[in-house]
Amino acid sequence: MKRIVFKVGTATLYENGKLSSRIDDIVELLSELNKEYEVLLVSSGAVGAGYTRCPLDKSKLENKQALAAIGQPLLMKEYKERFHKYDVTVAQVLVTAADFDSRKRTDNAQKMINVLLENKVIPIINENDSVSVEEILFGDNDQLSAYVTYYFNADMLIILSDIDAFYTDNPKTNKNAKPLKIVTEINDEWLKQECNPNDKFATGGIVTKLKAAKFLMDRGKSMFLTSGFDLSDVKAFLKGEHKGGTLFK
Ligand code: ADP
Repeated sequence: MKRIVFKVGTATLYENGKLSSRIDDIVELLSELNKEYEVLLVSSGAVGAGYTRCPLDKSKLENKQALAAIGQPLLMKEYKERFHKYDVTVAQVLVTAADFDSRKRTDNAQKMINVLLENKVIPIINENDSVSVEEILFGDNDQLSAYVTYYFNADMLIILSDIDAFYTDNPKTNKNAKPLKIVTEINDEWLKQECNPNDKFATGGIVTKLKAAKFLMDRGKSMFLTSGFDLSDVKAFLKGEHKGGTLFK
């Protein structure tokens, strides 16, 4: 395994409307991994970052896009400063669904990504929310990160979430739900579950993660869903020890 895409969700990055110290731990981990692997990061949180400066009603699309435009440089600044401590350079890459529409556009984007990775620069990828029109919005970074993994030829996607695994049922509402270690098939019933992201800025939820997993599994790639709150499982997994977290393959 050489090239890995990490996706980090809003609920992991923010706590009570403020950036959490969890971002420090994630940056430390990715900086360390960058020595051994090619690392790409798909990060949510631009809308949340924008809201800290300008609390607009995000139920309106144009407000949400404005928040993303305000928040994107704020979020990048937070990453840039933290990665700088480890002497790692980051690049901002904003994509839209249309960038993956044609082979030509994908090839161009991939060549640029290759240049960044060859130079040990970590691309921080997000959807170009502020100009995406409604019908081409990915809408959530789970599926965007699956596209990034596939089209930019990564070996796997690792989703750092507020939940530590995929469970037999929503563990927040069902105490008897059991974590699944390995999933080799996505049941259609699962995809019909209610979309219920926890954070008011999050747009994902478990269903978009399952869709991301299905997209990758159908194309022979794997996805690991694990905690972004406690990084011990992802660290163990990368050392070949699968303790917690769900591997979709
Ligand atoms: P993130 O911000 O990391 O993208 P989300 O809040 O969007 O995470 O999605 C993860 C949430 O999905 C969990 O915290 C949990 O409440 C909910 N969820 C619903 N069903 C399940 C399930 N079967 N297994 C795990 N989590 C589930």
